[in-house]
Amino acid sequence: MTDNSPSDVLDQYHAVMNELASAEAAAGRSVGAVQLVAVSKTHPASRILPLLKAGHRLFGENRVQEAEAKWPALRSAYSDLELHLIGPLQSNKVREAVALFDVIETLDRPKLAAALAAEMSRSGRRLRCLVQVNTGAEPQKAGVLPEAADAFIEDCRHRWQLPVEGLMCIPPQEADPAPHFAQLADMARRHALPMLSMGMSGDYLRAVAAGATHVRVGTAIFGHRAPVGFGL
Ligand SMILES: *Cc1c(COP(=O)(O)O)cnc(C)c1O
Repeated sequence: MTDNSPSDVLDQYHAVMNELASAEAAAGRSVGAVQLVAVSKTHPASRILPLLKAGHRLFGENRVQEAEAKWPALRSAYSDLELHLIGPLQSNKVREAVALFDVIETLDRPKLAAALAAEMSRSGRRLRCLVQVNTGAEPQKAGVLPEAADAFIEDCRHRWQLPVEGLMCIPPQEADPAPHFAQLADMARRHALPMLSMGMSGDYLRAVAAGATHVRVGTAIFGHRAPVGFGL
């Protein structure tokens, strides 16, 4: 896989879309049941534009500051694009995030829920939110712990009145992702949440089989990222 020119990006994008369609068919799911969130973090607008020109509209970024530098110009050219925040959100960045993104996938703690609720009512912008669940209970990873998730989801919806639409997870790196996907899908079903964001470049086909409605794919589309300073 080469990953330097914009035409490579487009080829890789089409390959991922084809794989997704096959996985949907193999899982007995309807065509288009799974949305591809193209994760463009660390990549410049010149590599994102080919996808926009090809009609793709759904993207993910993990840092508010980086997204602020790239996306306002792209959005003025493509006003119908949809941008998801997929990285941790600090409470002091909530105002910028609510102004810039369409979906927050990383709602994971009461302080953030309160800050989002306050900013949404102040600004009048109501963003769909996904609760991030730390299904592997990894100490270094963001996300609400599985045993606290039920109560947190209820609080987000009722106490803070946030538009919670789904769940998101990042399984532990070396683990079999299947039980993590199954656990998240089960939790979403119990709470009647329609959106299920799970699966990345290495495991998105398995996430489709497990019921994902959104897969977040970066490397398989855009190629490898510069390693320094841009961890998960
Ligand atoms: C970077 C990132 C992805 C994409 O990862 P790839 O392995 O490059 O596809 C997905 N989800 C989150 C939360 C990320 O930070």
